[in-house]
Amino acid sequence: MFECRHAEQIEDVTPSAPGCEECLRTGSWWVHLRLCRTCGHVGCCDDSPNRHATAHFRSTRHPVIEGYDPPEGWGWCYVDEVFIDLGERITARGGV
Ligand SMILES: [Zn+2]
Ligand SMILES: [Zn+2]
Ligand SMILES: [Zn+2]
Repeated sequence: MFECRHAEQIEDVTPSAPGCEECLRTGSWWVHLRLCRTCGHVGCCDDSPNRHATAHFRSTRHPVIEGYDPPEGWGWCYVDEVFIDLGERITARGGV
């Protein structure tokens, strides 16, 4: 099994918005949310029409997101393409 080389870079973040930042701005919708564990960006998943979480990774190279709608206890590394067990380090639902 592959290991994620970015586990040490996972930060405790504050979610940037109550839903996908870009979708809230444009009035779009999403299926599930993904939280960036580098900067706290909230984006929508690949089942959503706009796939903002993946777009965020492409533009920022922030490697690790968390399943966040609701917090599901797992992370995903875009670089290594592996799931990460976040254990106790899941982010509580919230946002500004
Ligand atoms: Zn990784
Ligand atoms: Zn979105
Ligand atoms: Zn980010």
